Amino acid sequence: MKIYNTLTRKKEEFKPIEEGKVRMYVCGPTVYNYIHIGNARPMIIFDTFRRYLEYKGYEVTYVSNFTDVDDKIIKAAIEENTTAEEISTRFIKECKKDMADLNIKPATTNPLATNEIAGMIEMIETLIEKGYAYAAEDGTVYYRTRKFDGYGKLSHKNIDDLEAGHRDIKVTGELKEDPLDFVLWKPKKEGEPYWESPWCKGRPGWHIECSVMAKKYLGDTIDIHAGGEDLVFPHHENEIAQSEAANGVPFANYWMHNGFLNINNQKMSKSLGNFFTVREIGEKYDLQVLRFFMLNAHYRTPLNFSKELMDVAKNSLERIITAAENLKHLSGVTEKEDMTGEENELFEQTELFVKKFEAAMDDDANTADAVASVFEFVKFANSNASAESSKAYLEAMYQRLFTLCDVLGIIVERKQEILDADIEKLIEERQMARKEKNFARADEIRDTLLEMGIVLEDTREGVKWKRA
Ligand code: AMP
Ligand code: ZN
Repeated sequence: MKIYNTLTRKKEEFKPIEEGKVRMYVCGPTVYNYIHIGNARPMIIFDTFRRYLEYKGYEVTYVSNFTDVDDKIIKAAIEENTTAEEISTRFIKECKKDMADLNIKPATTNPLATNEIAGMIEMIETLIEKGYAYAAEDGTVYYRTRKFDGYGKLSHKNIDDLEAGHRDIKVTGELKEDPLDFVLWKPKKEGEPYWESPWCKGRPGWHIECSVMAKKYLGDTIDIHAGGEDLVFPHHENEIAQSEAANGVPFANYWMHNGFLNINNQKMSKSLGNFFTVREIGEKYDLQVLRFFMLNAHYRTPLNFSKELMDVAKNSLERIITAAENLKHLSGVTEKEDMTGEENELFEQTELFVKKFEAAMDDDANTADAVASVFEFVKFANSNASAESSKAYLEAMYQRLFTLCDVLGIIVERKQEILDADIEKLIEERQMARKEKNFARADEIRDTLLEMGIVLEDTREGVKWKRA
């Protein structure tokens, strides 16, 4: 299996540190709002990659953090007149719900930054002892960037060019030795959450949390570190500087980065305001469609989001689900039990699609080609299965389709789906029934909706509904 490694800028044969095991770390979201569909791209991509590793027999330890202390969280808390903890707890819960709806397997561990402060202080102390960090007068601790020889090796930046860039920015009031130095620990400001430390009451910088969590949950050297390409510099570059200086060994053997999800060729981001939340998209489409849409592109290429492409993805996914449904239906109605010799041969022919699927995934997780081989299978199944086929053959075909889709995180069993417009229609009908004092019908509609996970709430402004 080959992985494109950002560190070497080459596709490399994957060799885990320990045979049969993979230790993988994926940088998770900062939790101050609902996640947008750009944030969902790394989640979907690296979950699919993890599923494929498991399909190949690896035991994967998958760690992905939640950044639950950060300026943006504190700002959101001030705006809502609540605590940072309340904000982060709420949005971690919402994020986990979105991830479940996207069929993302729960991580082995989802550490929270605020639970790992002691480990961060310990690593910062080690860095100070080794001369890689220093505390300034005001209690801020900085990383001594120039001291780390390999700085720039991931982002392929030259340290002198970086320095030139930084010199243009005049930062007043900073007590850094060098403009390139970055923050490991900073003093608290009025009203902010803080922790005691040897340097001052304060909180950690962002980069240190990932170095500490990766070390604690996966070890000093890990197999794969992943995230969106905006994290290459400075976040991942700084993680390498911290971890390698503190631990004295290479940090991650393979670095994987996904390309951006764009809108009109511009990165989708909270700050630009050009985003859709996963929740919003979930009101219009089954979130499997979003997952499938993302898998139709290679993870390293930029991907433009549009309604048209989502509708294409919806129709394509429908073809797969219909084929699976058909195989299942036929196996329920056929009267023949055992596979014939001819069927056995047909089934063996489908081995080719499995091989193509694996070859695609082995080639730096080329999910687009993997999906294409699933379609080849579907076409074959549609023309080589009927009520005349045996149950054993139909079941084997179904199982094969199920397995390939499961690697992609696509569920082939049809879910009962109801669209916003249909919900509104039923609510209107319920209102009419109530007016006509047909309460039995009104209750019936309410129960039907509830079975589909739609909760109604009668308020003074009218009927409100939400998906449970
Ligand atoms: P953040 O909460 O901004 O730190 O982002 C969490 C993860 O989402 C990181 O791995 C980012 O690289 C990734 N990400 C953010 N925006 C996008 C986007 N538009 N396309 C792809 N990945 C993104
Ligand atoms: Zn990180």
